[in-house]
Amino acid sequence: MLRALNRVSATGASHVRSLAPAGARFKAGTWGDAPLRDDTTLVHAAVNPDQETGAILTPLYLSTTFVQESVGKYLAKGYSYSRTNNPTTSTLEAKLAAVEHGFGASAFGTGMAATTSAVFATMKAGDHCIITDCSYGGTNRSCREFFTPLGMEFSFVDFTDPENVRKAIKSNTKLIFSETPANPVLTLTDLDAISKIAKESGCYHVCDATFAPPVMLRPLDHGCDMVIQSLTKFYEGHNMMTGGAVISKTQELHDKVKWVQNVNGNIMNPFCAFIILQTSKTMALRVRQQSKSAMAVARFLEAHPKVTKVMYPGLESFPQKELADRYHRDGLHGGMLWFDIVGGSDAGTKLMDNIQRPWSLCENLGSTESIITACAVMTHANMLKEDRMKVGIGDGFIRVSCGIEDTEDLISTLAAALETC
Ligand code: PLP
Repeated sequence: MLRALNRVSATGASHVRSLAPAGARFKAGTWGDAPLRDDTTLVHAAVNPDQETGAILTPLYLSTTFVQESVGKYLAKGYSYSRTNNPTTSTLEAKLAAVEHGFGASAFGTGMAATTSAVFATMKAGDHCIITDCSYGGTNRSCREFFTPLGMEFSFVDFTDPENVRKAIKSNTKLIFSETPANPVLTLTDLDAISKIAKESGCYHVCDATFAPPVMLRPLDHGCDMVIQSLTKFYEGHNMMTGGAVISKTQELHDKVKWVQNVNGNIMNPFCAFIILQTSKTMALRVRQQSKSAMAVARFLEAHPKVTKVMYPGLESFPQKELADRYHRDGLHGGMLWFDIVGGSDAGTKLMDNIQRPWSLCENLGSTESIITACAVMTHANMLKEDRMKVGIGDGFIRVSCGIEDTEDLISTLAAALETC
């Protein structure tokens, strides 16, 4: 897959083609035969030195249209108009497909555009979707306030027990939508079990794995049909760009998502794709450091007398620890955790108001900068309050995204803020 240059067909489907000419062994610039490991794939997949100039990075093609040699040779070079496909964006899409083990990927301007496109590609009026009762607030809102009025039906179900999902299946169920770890409460989904239910019921299983980048989890290896990534988070990782992707396991699904993307015109712009092509190369390094810090911060919080509850999939006390160890690769449990403190909502709010740098009080996650988020008023404000409280997102709920700063600096600043509460 690494010896691959992305090409886009007239239908918009991505393909990979081998660049290693026969007999090219031991020549500078060619790849050997040995299979390459994940960290190498993350750096090199889909990217080849420019054949004309030798530029090591895929160029930023800021071009709206692509000149055709003749009417008869329309699309001979693979591109016509950048709302449909652009060479820089296509390269990122090919890289995402390789890294996530999919057939093809569609890159969007945001994670929400990826989510709504996955729904549009698989559902129509009269169809039913079973979705986790705890997801990113924007996902929950799109189902309740955007898709439901269009005639689609949604059941919000606790995915921690796959039997709940099985029981919710109806004759018109077309899509099962999981999120693992779920934003923000970090409940995990047994993806193999849910995929099995989807297969037996003849519907698709899409998983939003934004909290679990591929160095940690690859849902397509667990029977999922599609994976959604908000690229804004771990992939981009530097608080510069928003982006999203749907990576599909089959050509059939990939073509559907690409078609929806072309109709809606929400493809990722090439500048953003160029940036994410670069920042994603360091994602595995960042996630290892973020996971290390998150584990240390979680342990510190667990031992602190003012902390009533800490949730981190790496902690022995985590309710789904067995699932975390079964699904999270290389012992990596990610950079996300949450906690509650003595004094409830008021004390939690006070801590968030008092936290000093290097922590930043804001939305977003998965970046180099460490972030604290007040989910009740920020990321999940658009959930119904009763739904939010039911899944445990109280007003003082403190969500933590560990960045790549020195772990001790993160802990000592947190300790100082806790003293003020
Ligand atoms: N999915 C999850 C799990 C998220 O946390 C987010 C955003 O926080 C999204 C999807 C939406 O991504 P974006 O903000 O890039 O639209």
